Amino acid sequence: PLTGADLDAAVLAADHRHVLHSWSAQAHLPSFVVAGGAGCRVWDHAGTTWLDFSSQLVNTNIGHQHPAVVAAIKEQADLLTTVSPATANATRAEAAERILALAPAAFRKVFFTNGGADANENAVRMARLHTGRDKAVSAYRSYHGNTGAAVVATGDWRRVPNEYARGHVHAFGPYLYRSDFWADSPAQECERALQHLERVVVAEGAASVAAILLETIPGTAGVLVPPPGYLAGVREICDRYGIVLVLDEVMAGFGRTGSWFAFLQHDVVPDLVTFAKGVNSGYVPAGGVLVSAEIAATFDEQVFPGGLTYSGHPLAMAAIVATLDAMQSDGVVENAARIGRDVLGPGLAEIAAGCPLVGEVRGTGVFWALELVADQDSRAPLPPTVMARIKGLCLERGLLPFVAENRVHVVPPCIIGEDEAREGLGILAGVLRDVTT
Ligand code: PLP
Repeated sequence: PLTGADLDAAVLAADHRHVLHSWSAQAHLPSFVVAGGAGCRVWDHAGTTWLDFSSQLVNTNIGHQHPAVVAAIKEQADLLTTVSPATANATRAEAAERILALAPAAFRKVFFTNGGADANENAVRMARLHTGRDKAVSAYRSYHGNTGAAVVATGDWRRVPNEYARGHVHAFGPYLYRSDFWADSPAQECERALQHLERVVVAEGAASVAAILLETIPGTAGVLVPPPGYLAGVREICDRYGIVLVLDEVMAGFGRTGSWFAFLQHDVVPDLVTFAKGVNSGYVPAGGVLVSAEIAATFDEQVFPGGLTYSGHPLAMAAIVATLDAMQSDGVVENAARIGRDVLGPGLAEIAAGCPLVGEVRGTGVFWALELVADQDSRAPLPPTVMARIKGLCLERGLLPFVAENRVHVVPPCIIGEDEAREGLGILAGVLRDVTT
C-alpha cells in the first residue's frame, strides 16, 4: 500500500479523475490533500501540517475532531442512525430546545435542514406563506446558498447563471470602504443605505415584499460589519411595511463573532434566523431556521408545505447537542471574543499599519478580512495573480488561508489559542511582506 507523499499523489490523481468539484473549472483544481486534523491544524499523508485560518469553509468553529462531539456521534450511531422526520425523536427535540435557549424569547420553534441553502429556501417560503406576498429583497454583496431560491437571493456572481427562482430583488448594503452612496462616515453610509433599501422596497411595491433577507454580517462578500444602527433601521423598514426580517447567520452564527448570534450585537431581533455550519461545526451536515412565535403560529392549522428526508437527522442532532455542550463548557464563544479583541484585532491593525497592500481591516471575534489593494489612493483591488501568489506562499509556510477575490479572510476556529493566533498572524505578515506584486 502507498504511504506518505506517494499516497498524497495517488489521492490527488484519483480525486481529479473522479470528483467534480464545486465552483471550479475542473482543469484547475486544488493541489493538496487533507488526510486528518485536530483542533486548529490539518495535515496530509506526508505529514505536512497547516494551521487552519479558514475553518475549512468557515464552519469548524470548535476545530477538528473535538473528542466529545466525535464520541456523541458514535454513541448516537449505536443507538439509531436515521429516523423519519415525521416521527418525534429525543435527540432532535433536545437539539431544538438547546438552540432556542440561546436565542431571544421571541423564537419558538426550529425547522431543521441539511445545510444553509435549504435553511434560506425554507425561511423565504415561510415568509411568503406568512405574509401572502411574493418578493424577497436581499443584498448584492451576499451569499445565501446554492439551491433555487437561495442562489437567486445571493447577490454575487454565483446568482447570474442560476436565476430560475422568481421574485428576488437586490439592493446595496453599507460598505463604507467602497461606498455606493458617496458617504464619508459610518453614520452617513448607514443613513443612505437605509434610504436606498426603503426606496427599493417601495419601488418594488411594499405590499408585494414578503421578506428582507440579509446576512447579519455579509461573510464571503468580505466580512462587511454593518455600521451601528443599520440593522435596527432595516427592522424599522420591515415593521413599517409588514415585511418579515430574515437574518442569515449561517456563517456569522454560533460563536464566530464572539457571541452566539451576530444579531445580538446589533440591537435587533429578526423574525427568522437561518443557521448551519457552526451549529455543529459541520461534523454531520445540518442547518435550520429559528422561527418566531408569530410565524410558527401560522403553521398551527395551515400545513407547512416543506420538508426533507433528513430534517433533524439523529447523527446531526447528536452532533449539535454535543457541540453546544462543548462550546459552553469550554467557553468557546468567550474565547472567540477575547482572541478577536486582544490578538486578531490589534495584530491585523499592526500588519495593516506596516503594509501598503492592506487597504482596510474589518471584523469582530474570529471573523476578519484584510482587503488588499494595489494602490492606497485608488483602492484598486490587488489582482488575482497576486492573490494566487499570496495563497501559495501561505500554504508553503504552513498556513491555510481563506482567500476571496482581493481579500484574505482571517477566520480560524473559535477555539484558537493566543499562540496559534499569533503564529498565523506572523506567517501572514511575512507573506504580505515577501510577495512580489
Ligand atoms: N448563507 C451563508 C451566509 C453562507 O456563508 C453559506 C455558505 O457558505 C450559505 C448560506 C450556504 O450554506 P450551505 O453551503 O450549507 O448550503
